Amino acid sequence: MISRKVAVIGAGAAGLVASRELRREGHEVVVFERSDRIGGTWVYNSNIESDPLGLDPSRAIVHSSLYESLRTNLPREVMGFRDYPFVAQVNDDRDPRRFPHHTEVLHYLVDFANHFGLIELILFETEVIYVGLLEEEEELKNNWVVKFRKKGEVDGSSVAHEVFDAVVVCSGHYTHPNIAEIPGIAAWPGKQLHSHNYRVPEPFSGQVVLVIGNRASAADISKEIFTVAKEVHVASRSTMNVSPTQRFGNNNVRHHPLVKCANEDGTVVFHDGSLVRVDAIVQCTGYKYYFPFLEISDTVTVDDNCVGPLYQHIFPPVLAPGLSFIGIPWMALPFPTFELQSKWVAGVLSGRVSLPYKDKMIEDVAAFYFQLKEAAIPKRYAHFLGEKQFDYADWLAAESGCQPLEEWRKEMAKERDRNATTRPESYRDEWEDEDLIVQAHEDFSQYLP
Ligand code: FAD
Repeated sequence: MISRKVAVIGAGAAGLVASRELRREGHEVVVFERSDRIGGTWVYNSNIESDPLGLDPSRAIVHSSLYESLRTNLPREVMGFRDYPFVAQVNDDRDPRRFPHHTEVLHYLVDFANHFGLIELILFETEVIYVGLLEEEEELKNNWVVKFRKKGEVDGSSVAHEVFDAVVVCSGHYTHPNIAEIPGIAAWPGKQLHSHNYRVPEPFSGQVVLVIGNRASAADISKEIFTVAKEVHVASRSTMNVSPTQRFGNNNVRHHPLVKCANEDGTVVFHDGSLVRVDAIVQCTGYKYYFPFLEISDTVTVDDNCVGPLYQHIFPPVLAPGLSFIGIPWMALPFPTFELQSKWVAGVLSGRVSLPYKDKMIEDVAAFYFQLKEAAIPKRYAHFLGEKQFDYADWLAAESGCQPLEEWRKEMAKERDRNATTRPESYRDEWEDEDLIVQAHEDFSQYLP
């Protein structure tokens, strides 16, 4: 097996498990982390950005999009890494609930990093500002230059660089807001905010608030704002086969189709012609993939929020295996998916696992884009896995030579979705999959002391 020198960008859940798998495979690993701690998304920051919509390119970026009250939307059994179970700890500062507060996830990631000795691999407060191929002789062609800057060093002179055999990008994709374009919004007099900059409901006390979106954040935030606001309205594109009432519960939040336009008099008009005067709009409209450090931006592009071309959401065919991405898919169990992707990348880099020829990978990605087009699925859904996630996970496991995703985990994830649909208000505290919990713990016993 070949040992490579590998740069990992980011020490969130993806970067941590990637560095563990790379090191297990015998690679030399350096992790670059812009902040002063591990955890990425799970490091709550009560500060918000100067531009609450996140559009001003000169704003100081706050990485995490967590709101203060956030509890996980997955049960801890399915959420954790496979061989380091996310089990409740008997300790005063821990949250033993099955869908714990966000602080519990950060504790878990810190425990994970300490248990596997990962902290020593990380360069903290070190931001990667450039990743590109070394333009030298042919034999060095596959070497990657990583340029980085320590916190506080803003003039170009303090930029350092290092050359690696491979770069694994684990920089996350829940930081740069995607904003709904609303005709007339420039003249509309109210306040707007993206959920990235939502922390607590109090600023909305007594107001009429419109929440745009139909996923987990929109559901949680609209319910929370409802506790202090005068009225809460939710506008969403109904892409799911359940009614908004099922999705959000039967509280007094009022549901509407998407917004058609906003007016100078403070009203917002919906596509069914109805209209409401609102004081504030909270856009829970998702995030954009963003890799400002990638020099090879003509080879890997972000087009309609699809990162590509990527073979199996990981390797750009013409740059494989030197450049890879962990954590691009969405609507998949994040931590176990990162773990399986990382095993595959680590195995490919060592030569233990073979990639298809470049042309075959290019063909495969082209066929995938063609399928999307034929099915009239916009490119922005290219990395949406949903029900496909289990086949994807099992494919990665088979390629990497490890066990497929546990059956109890697949069943529990599906059961969680069913429960969240039928009990949107209380799925975090009421469930009926006790038998699956027992199976999970039987499985965990092989890893627990
Ligand atoms: P991140 O956690 O974002 O980590 C990326 C890291 O890269 C950060 O530490 C960042 O500082 C660093 N970085 C970025 N750019 C650079 C650079 N240029 N140089 C150096 N370092 C850099 N998942 C679940 O499993 N369960 C949940 O309940 C759940 N709830 C969520 C709720 C919200 C509101 C959000 C936004 C996400 C939620 N997720 C949940 C998904 C969650 O984001 C993933 O679980 C996971 O934490 C993502 O990990 P990551 O490592 O890919 O990215």
